[in-house]
Amino acid sequence: MNPRPQDSLAALVLAAGYSSRMGEFKPLLPIGSSTAIERAIDVFLAAGITDVIVVTGHRAEDLRPVLQRKGVREVFNPHFDKGMYSSVVAGARSLRLGVSACFVLPADMPLVLPGTIQSLASAFGKTPASILYPMFQECRGHPPLIRRDVLEEALQAEPADGLRGLLARRRDVREIEVADEGIHLDMDTPADLDRLRALAETITGSVCPICLRRVDARRVVEGSNVYLAKTCPEHGDFRTVLWRGLPSYQSWGSAKKAPSRAPACATTVKEGCPFDCGLCTGHRQHTCCVVMEVTQRCNLSCRICFAGAGDGQRDPSLDTIENWCRGLLDSGGPFNLQLSGGEPTVRDDLPRIVELARSLGFGFIQLNTNGVRLAADPDYAGVLKRAGLGCVFLQFDSMTDVAYRQIRGRALLETKLAAIRNCRENELGVVLVPTLVPGVNIGQIGEIIRFAIGQMPAVRAVHFQPVSYFGRYPGRPSDADRITLPEVLREIERQTQGRLPASQFFPPSAENAWCSFQGKFAIQPDGSIQSAPNPPSSGCCGSAASLVQLEGGGGARRAQQFVARRWAFPDTPAGPPVESLDEFLVRDRNTLCVSGMAFQDAWNLDLDRLRDCFLHAVTNGGRLVPLCAYNLTAAGGRALYRTGERDV
Ligand code: SF4
Ligand code: SF4
Ligand SMILES: [Zn+2]
Repeated sequence: MNPRPQDSLAALVLAAGYSSRMGEFKPLLPIGSSTAIERAIDVFLAAGITDVIVVTGHRAEDLRPVLQRKGVREVFNPHFDKGMYSSVVAGARSLRLGVSACFVLPADMPLVLPGTIQSLASAFGKTPASILYPMFQECRGHPPLIRRDVLEEALQAEPADGLRGLLARRRDVREIEVADEGIHLDMDTPADLDRLRALAETITGSVCPICLRRVDARRVVEGSNVYLAKTCPEHGDFRTVLWRGLPSYQSWGSAKKAPSRAPACATTVKEGCPFDCGLCTGHRQHTCCVVMEVTQRCNLSCRICFAGAGDGQRDPSLDTIENWCRGLLDSGGPFNLQLSGGEPTVRDDLPRIVELARSLGFGFIQLNTNGVRLAADPDYAGVLKRAGLGCVFLQFDSMTDVAYRQIRGRALLETKLAAIRNCRENELGVVLVPTLVPGVNIGQIGEIIRFAIGQMPAVRAVHFQPVSYFGRYPGRPSDADRITLPEVLREIERQTQGRLPASQFFPPSAENAWCSFQGKFAIQPDGSIQSAPNPPSSGCCGSAASLVQLEGGGGARRAQQFVARRWAFPDTPAGPPVESLDEFLVRDRNTLCVSGMAFQDAWNLDLDRLRDCFLHAVTNGGRLVPLCAYNLTAAGGRALYRTGERDV
């Protein structure tokens, strides 16, 4: 690979001081979803600067585990009580050969944007200046990018006025304009910290939907709506709705999830999120559920297809699938497995794949399907069930054929009903998965839920997916082409005449709160509906995390069983109200889970959210990639991960 301009640059993060004015150790203060020191490091990693050196001193032993986890170098400054200049000297002495210039950032300035670092990095070398400063509103800020020879001068002389005086005497400097107030914001006092925390809630990263380069992004609040705003230097400004109305974005996200790391990471941070998936060491959630595409072929040609399927690629062999499964076991598995595609049922050896995965220890296997084969062959559901399939995730967009014609290109209602009938007769649980498309099937939400209730216990859940714009979709979506999660909740309440109130749905506990919602409802013999007593967990395996909490940790195997019982066809009859977990599961025969997940596309991608993702696809090369990154597609059709080019 050709060297990149960033490869000759390094970053010194100064974290050695006493934090006396703050009264608490500043580098470890929480800011948003991480700490000040982690954010300061991430500024550089996200910009593709991988040679990050953190200078420690006071409380170095407390910082060390964080630095090790981030994979950055530590330099200990034994003279840290002499002030910041001594830390710059300690850091400058540790620069590797080949480093031509270095950023210097105090750890208490953690909200500099990665785009600022990229702007300075790309200007360096195009100018004879020895120091580049970022400038915002006509004021210089941090971090300066300092040529190596200037830093080496600092090693020779110890100016009385410190680094600031040394730099001030240089005349060959240049200022680079940036739209980044973070270059001025440090935190010396609790009031500063409050200001930084408020700003941190609004800043994130994304990609340009045209060229997929990483760009800084902001969450912009307007009344009760929230938008993602970003600018690509080449393709201009973009603004996309993230959230409309109540419950508010802020309240929904107020219960922050605790970070949980993957037990084994296949990649390090090199280019910055979302280009390092593997999972990389920067990811903040372990894998709960893995999507495995066993074919790219399909027996439909839908206008909207998350996978962009149907391109006639060769199917992966059974040996390849076995290797993927074994790789998953090495990455902390077995996980819940979703066999996907394309349309997996076009493979005649699908039952063999299910058996294979079960024999390797994968306890719960779901099938993502359009239902065409399940409907056409009454025995097929039984064959899959006997092979070990746990449940069917059935595309189910509407109770009318109008919507199927619009979304899927043909009338499919009878097919869906036949597929459900055949699953019921073979005691295979079904989750209905409607893709919600504004102007097409939003008015079907209540009908689908009523239908699901009538089909219990064979139908176990309804899992709504607001349409996302990746895969196969022409043109540039407008905000009117989107429905956000709170709108889905309000439609559920409205279209069920308040029987499933929005207030009885909850954010998830495993993935990022803004990814999904979940609700669980007990259907009484008289047809009335009650919310289930415990806030349930969501999506494919939010339940895994909540069960681990329920059981005081370490309950991964039980958690998988919990998912299996919730979505698999119930074995046991309903019983009276109960208290133990197992008895609670029995009662699941009469409960319906209603959940939703808002996938992200290149227009609305929030990298902070992506890093909390728990639903991962396995690539051709066996890497784990958060599903939204895996599906990410530029407006022109270029995919980031599907082509496999990042597997090498
Ligand atoms: S999405 Fe996760 S695994 Fe992928 S680059 Fe970002 S942090 Fe790493
Ligand atoms: S797949 Fe996308 S929407 Fe779902 S948890 Fe991952 S990042 Fe969130
Ligand atoms: Zn662009």
